[in-house]
Amino acid sequence: MADYPVKRLRRLRYNSLIRDMVRETELSKNDFIYPLFVVPGNKVKKEVKSMPGVYQMSIDTVVEECKEVRDLGIPAVILFGIPEHKDEKGSEAYDPQGIIQRAIRKIKKEVDNLLVITDVCMCEYTSHGHCGLLKGEEILNDETIELLAKESLTHVQAGADMVAPSDMMDGRVKAIREIFDDNGFQKIPIMSYAAKYSSGYYGPFRDAAESTPAFGDRRSHQMDIANVLEALREVETDIEEGADIIMVKPAGPYLDIIRRVKDKFGMPTSAYQVSGEYAMIKAAGLNGWIDEERVMIESLTSIKRAGADMFLTYFAKDAARWLDKNRR
Ligand SMILES: [Zn+2]
Repeated sequence: MADYPVKRLRRLRYNSLIRDMVRETELSKNDFIYPLFVVPGNKVKKEVKSMPGVYQMSIDTVVEECKEVRDLGIPAVILFGIPEHKDEKGSEAYDPQGIIQRAIRKIKKEVDNLLVITDVCMCEYTSHGHCGLLKGEEILNDETIELLAKESLTHVQAGADMVAPSDMMDGRVKAIREIFDDNGFQKIPIMSYAAKYSSGYYGPFRDAAESTPAFGDRRSHQMDIANVLEALREVETDIEEGADIIMVKPAGPYLDIIRRVKDKFGMPTSAYQVSGEYAMIKAAGLNGWIDEERVMIESLTSIKRAGADMFLTYFAKDAARWLDKNRR
């Protein structure tokens, strides 16, 4: 093969206009979903210590934050709630007057043109920090999905545009789809955390959501980090149960899973760039060990290149500003 010198791939890297023209993967603000942590109180804006630039906010502050997010051109937020009171059964999770339900109503009233997605799980609301009802130390599956369905219904009744169950109980997508359809919410989509791994990268999130389990871990419902085929079965099950968007979590260390899921199912696919991924880039950036902005964009581009159509990322605002500055 005597391609060279006829074939010179560097010709298409000659200047930035040409590089922009042939770029295969383009980030867009349309892909971004920004996670927010809602806490009780007034005028609260408390930085999460392991996540610089990420805050726990009271409802009034979250509303202002949502306006800023919308004005930056980011289409969606996902809400996590930290309740006033936690109990064994996580009652505030499905209380129509709970923290998230009140936050949704306020945001929908005051901020237009913004999708409000809600995380659906029990672990922020239970006194033991587990994702469902317990019997001894076992998390009960079927009893828990009833509560998750109830929780989801209160979210959409408050005005949520989409729900995202993150618990990894079996059958929860079906239970949520049924309760929505029975109550006139046929049009509300479900984004399921379909392949959620039992990952060490969630550490900083538990500071933010105050959801560290009091004992044990989440290995009886989240996936073993070593498994791929099981992820495909999880995703397939959620699609059959009625999921509209499927998610892989975490994102960066699981790019192979994103690609396999996208290739096999061709579904709208989201990925969660989780707290630990964010914290590592932030910390190294703050120390001057890496160029934070550059690595941020590289990490997000990698997730999109792997096949994700959208991502949940704590960098959403920074990345939106970067796009404003750097892309036509
Ligand atoms: Zn949970």
